[in-house]
Amino acid sequence: MNSFSYERALAPDKAIRSGSARGAKFLAGGTNLVDLMKYGVESPTTLVDINHLELAQVTKSADGGVAIGALVRNSDLADHTLIKSQYPLLSQALLSGASPQLRNMATTGGNLLQRTRCYYFNDVNFPACNKRVPGSGCAAIKGYNRIHAILGQSDKGSTSGESCIATHPSDMCVAMAALDAKVEVEGPKGRRIIPFAEFHKLPGTTPWVETALRADELIVGVTLPPPKFAKNAYYLKARDRNSYAFALISVAAGLEMDGDHVRSAGLALGGVALKPWRKAEAEKVLVGKPARAETFSQAADILLQGAIGYEHNAFKIQLAKRGVVRALILASQGTTEGVQA
Ligand SMILES: Cc1cc2nc3c(=O)[nH]c(=O)nc-3n(C[C@H](O)[C@H](O)[C@H](O)COP(=O)(O)OP(=O)(O)OC[C@H]3O[C@@H](n4cnc5c(N)ncnc54)[C@H](O)[C@@H]3O)c2cc1C
Ligand code: SF4
Repeated sequence: MNSFSYERALAPDKAIRSGSARGAKFLAGGTNLVDLMKYGVESPTTLVDINHLELAQVTKSADGGVAIGALVRNSDLADHTLIKSQYPLLSQALLSGASPQLRNMATTGGNLLQRTRCYYFNDVNFPACNKRVPGSGCAAIKGYNRIHAILGQSDKGSTSGESCIATHPSDMCVAMAALDAKVEVEGPKGRRIIPFAEFHKLPGTTPWVETALRADELIVGVTLPPPKFAKNAYYLKARDRNSYAFALISVAAGLEMDGDHVRSAGLALGGVALKPWRKAEAEKVLVGKPARAETFSQAADILLQGAIGYEHNAFKIQLAKRGVVRALILASQGTTEGVQA
């Protein structure tokens, strides 16, 4: 392991000042960053420990929504009365992730910024990874790509400096995307709000640029608008094991119902792209329609338009389409508490 210095920040402005030094990184739960340091993928010069900042509250906002501090632990968020009762989609997504021990450490800010689980990115013995070493190629395109992207990837061939077919591994983010969350960040130039759809970046020609967060900015929290999908929400996660595994595909489905017709919908896919995958047309097609498999299937087709599979992950296209239909059917039947299948 490389040597690094450690600082404990007691106020956001101090954290931002220390965090803007070249090579510095914020340390929250450490469940992703410390692993990456052990693998040699990340080698910060300074760790700025932000665990003592007062950012661990969940509070009701004046507009009827909710504000979630960046240091709220995943287990506390999943179990919070307001989240369980008003945003069950988020609670279900969080409970489907990692293990109880990891969720007790993992924070909201860290979950947003967790890095891809692409095998080639996480193992420095593989030289070709454009995300880790810009211009080195992408080992996944012609390698083992079971967990990789089918949407929004950049594929100019494995030797191109632009290619990357990685996915974002978070469950929490998929629910937040469907719920129209916003990310609140603070830097030397003040606070700004980033709509969730703009927070994570697709790889494009710069796979190493992962989010809209600037190097000197701290995530201070996430806000959710007033709840719409409390009664009809379902988070579906398909994975190789039923616990302690990342999603092959996941679906966050929230419906606002008017009798047996859909009044509005929030729909996002996980495990298929480098960001939660959402399309306004897929939600619009549901509006005013009866809650039936045929209607939901139209939304699935729109959401998966343009999907391209690889040698080991082409199955994800059908899996995702079926997952969307199933999640919407189950959401339309009413929310059930706790982790979903
Ligand atoms: C075995 C295992 C299984 C897992 N399974 C799942 C799963 O099924 N689903 C899932 O969603 N996740 C899963 N995870 C990932 C886990 O959820 C993340 O590791 C965790 O959410 C990261 O949060 P953290 O607070 O520990 O982040 P850290 O590791 O502390 O930080 C991660 C990154 O975020 C930056 N950072 C942290 N907070 C801030 C902030 N406030 N402002 C700016 N930058 C910040 C850090 O500098 C670092 O770059 C798993 C992890 C492991 C190890
Ligand atoms: S998919 Fe992306 S992260 Fe994985 S090897 Fe290719 S460039 Fe690297």
